[in-house]
Parts: sequence; structure tokens; C-alpha cells
Amino acid sequence: MSLPTDLARRRWLKRMGAAGLALGAPWAMGAARPRRLRMDNLHTGETLAVEYFDGSRYEPDALADVDRFLRDFRSGEIAPIDPRLLDLLHRLAATTDSRQPFAVISGYRSPATNAALRRRSSGVASTSLHMRGQAIDIRLADVPLATLRDAARSLGLGGVGYYPASDFVHVDTGRVRTW
Ligand SMILES: [Zn+2]
Repeated sequence: MSLPTDLARRRWLKRMGAAGLALGAPWAMGAARPRRLRMDNLHTGETLAVEYFDGSRYEPDALADVDRFLRDFRSGEIAPIDPRLLDLLHRLAATTDSRQPFAVISGYRSPATNAALRRRSSGVASTSLHMRGQAIDIRLADVPLATLRDAARSLGLGGVGYYPASDFVHVDTGRVRTW
């Protein structure tokens, strides 16, 4: 792990602190259970099955694996992914009863990659939360896309964008909003 990534990670975890626990409270009443995620990266062909939370803390090695897995596949750049985004996915999997891994279309995007995408598409924001490790584009093989969207909206944990033409839902840990 590079030092900048570790520093950014510490900022995340520090900022989460008590707030992170409070965020976890609604679905972690009683003993906190370990949280696991399975993801397939459609661009790299890589798969990841990881326990990223052990019941009391986020596991640094697992978070590092997630960072690498969700790297900017165009440039290879790695950045820290917001652990709250993993919690959001974890809850989405539970809410939809999915038995499949998340298919990942896009995770972290470097500023250069985001700028290049913007030149090709009007649908890419200049301040995309993908550049801050707070957004991911996904679908689930065993859940209709509109159902996945509705489940994400029902959680009320951040932004939800619906892209049926491209067959994915964007979720992020920014303000609660929909498009
Ligand atoms: Zn997105």
C-alpha cells in the first residue's frame, strides 16, 4: 500500500468513527456480524470474495484488496474506497436476497479517466464521486435492474442513478438523491 492511500484511509476511518457506528446501528442491533461481499469486475475479469468487517472493525487487508479490485482499470491507479460504500452494497445484497456477486462496471476513476469519459459522454459529472472512491456502477444477475434501483433508493444511504440503456445502477455515499 502506498502511503497516500494509507493516509486517505485513515482520514476515512477517523471521519467515520462514532458516525460509522451510528450508521451501522439500524441493521447491526445486538452483536455486530461479520460483513462479506462478492464482486465480479467486468472489465478486468477478476473476482473478489472478501470479509471486510469482522464484527467489530473494518479489516485493513480486506479494504486494501477492495481498493485494488476497484482500481481505475484504464490507468491502473488505486485509491481508497469508502467503507460505507461496502456497507451500502452489503445491505443491497441482503435487501434484494441476491445469491449472485455484484457485477461491477465501474469503481474508482482517476481525474484523467473521468475527464476522458466526459469528452465522450454528456452523462459523466465533472465532480463524479467515482473520483473519491464513493461510487460504484453495478448490476446483479438474479435481480431485475429496476428492483435493484428501488432497493437502493429504499435504503436512503446516498445517490442512486438508473441507467437501463447501459444495464447498471449507480450508487454512491454522497447526498441522498436520485436520477
Ligand atoms: Zn456511476
